[in-house]
Parts: sequence; structure tokens; C-alpha cells
Amino acid sequence: MASPAPSSPLPRIRVLATGGTIAGAQTVGSRGYQAAAFSIEALVSAVPQLATLARLEVEQVAAIGSQDMDEAVWLRLAARTQAALAEPDIAAVVITHGTDTMEETGYFLNLVVPSAKPVVLVGAMRPATEMSADGPMNLYNAVAVAAHPETGGRGVLVVANDEIHFAREVAKTNTTQVGTFKATHRGLAGLVHAGRLHLYAPPVRAHTTQSEFAGPLPAALPRVDIVYAHAGMGRELVDAAVRAGAKGLVVAGVGDGNLHANALSACAAAARAGVAVVRSSRTGGGVVERNIEIPDDELGFIAADELNPQKARVLLMLGLTRTAAPAALQALFYRY
Ligand code: GLU
Repeated sequence: MASPAPSSPLPRIRVLATGGTIAGAQTVGSRGYQAAAFSIEALVSAVPQLATLARLEVEQVAAIGSQDMDEAVWLRLAARTQAALAEPDIAAVVITHGTDTMEETGYFLNLVVPSAKPVVLVGAMRPATEMSADGPMNLYNAVAVAAHPETGGRGVLVVANDEIHFAREVAKTNTTQVGTFKATHRGLAGLVHAGRLHLYAPPVRAHTTQSEFAGPLPAALPRVDIVYAHAGMGRELVDAAVRAGAKGLVVAGVGDGNLHANALSACAAAARAGVAVVRSSRTGGGVVERNIEIPDDELGFIAADELNPQKARVLLMLGLTRTAAPAALQALFYRY
């Protein structure tokens, strides 16, 4: 649908900044750049057109490249998002974020934010000082999505490169290109072109207001590690994760979540010891089903269904705050 003309008064939107390339500056005389070099005030003032969309207020929650995102920052960001959305006059939250781990942060918030108000993550692939920086238009589009009266109730969204993605569906698929974000399973949430929206079907899986994790946040999240499968995989990294105290393990399996017999027997031992073992896939697409080549029922494993390894880790961490029972954890992977 096309966007209506902006109504008056404009919605009040809080922008929570975490850093990333959208706030990045190229380093003089080298190929590199420094993420999170600019403040959110500088980013917003570089796009004066934002004033036609919303009344923005800004808060710097972190100033990091998103490769440094961790559970402590997630919990702080979630708390600040919840607090903003609880204010009756705040219509939506926009979060600026590096693209490396945006899909994980977005999916985490999709599960813990108890509000139907829009939450929109936005980043950029090119630093703010680069030729054809994509950040300003992405930020403008993200605020347009957040300000639109029909984007609430669709779960947490990610906006980049004129596309609107569901946080659950989106994955970063390319190291450098501006079209890096793809929805590998259920498709786009919509398109946004120079602030004009075209919304597609709402998401099917439970999120935000329907999520059992939405509400009071845990003080910390349990350790969950990801082990990446490959030809000739041994058992050592699985054993090391268990020794390091992992309460859960996600296997980025080959193909349909498979792994070499050596690593499989280590995972079976981990599951017998009470570690939650989730089989996901390193392929980047497709569903991991139960009991195809690996006897999940017998070994007490969990299949990741549609979630990629990094998102399976997010759901498993939250699930383990409630239960360690494989059947109950499996049910979460079919619901969220
Ligand atoms: N490593 C940076 C980050 O994730 C670069 C990616 C980006 O923001 O585009 O913050």
C-alpha cells in the first residue's frame, strides 16, 4: 500500500543507537574504516528530511561494531526498547545497528519485546563517509516504516536497501554488498522506496505480544555455543564446549543438520549429560526435520526447523531460561 500523507502531529519515535557501519567513518589513507565513529545526533542531523516523518528523540545505548554485540548489550537494549515502548506517547522505536549481527539482535527483540508498536532495526553497508553511503536513505526509510500506522503487530522489522524484512526471516548473506539482507524462507515483509511503503503478508510465527519470553528480562542468558560441521569433523570442539560450561549447543550441520559420526557421538554424550543439542544447518536455507538421518528421538536432540544456527542459538538461550527438556525446547522451534 502507499503511505498516507503524514498526519499532524507527527508520531514521536525514539531512536536507540548501538553503532555499526551506519555510524562508521573511513580511516584516512587506508582501506579500512571505524564502525560507530559518529554519534546518533550526527546521523540524524545529516538527514534533515526525517523531520517530515516523525518527532525523533535519540538515545545512545552502545557504540560498537556489531561483531562486539553480546548478551549483556542485548539485555540492555531490550530493556531500553521496552521502556521506550511503555511510554504512551512513544509510537515506535528505531534501532541503528551494525549489519554483522543485526539478524540475531532483531530476532532476540522479536521474542522479548511485549508490545505491538513498531520496532525497526536499520544499518548500512557503507560507512557514512563513503561514496554513495546507504545509511541516510536506510535511516529515512526505517523511520518511515516505524511511523507508518500499519507496521505495528508484525514483529520486529529490519530495513535496508529499500526492503522491509521480518527479523525472524532475515539473514546477512554477503560480506560487502548493499543488498546483503535476504529472507531465505518466508519472504519479505514489504518494500519501502523513498519513504513510501508496500506491505506484504504479516508473519506466521509467534512474536512480541504472543511470545512467552516477552516481559521481564532475565538477569543473564545461559551459555550456548555454535559448532560448525565439516568433512572430517572431530569431537574435540563439542567436548570443549561442554567442558567450558555450555548449557546448549547448536550444530551448524552439513546439509539437513548432519554431522560426522565422531562429532555425533560427542553430541549424544552431551545430550545424555543434560546439554540441549540443536541441529541446524550451515546451508543457509531449508528446514531441518527430525529423525531423517539422525535418530533425534533416541538421542534426545532438537531440530532447528527453519532457524539458521545463529538464530537457533538465540531461541535456545531464551528457551533454556525456562526448561532443559528436549521436547519442550523442540516445541519452541515450531512456535517461534
Ligand atoms: N562490523 C560492522 C558491524 O556489524 C560492519 C557491518 C555493518 O555495520 O555494516 O557493525
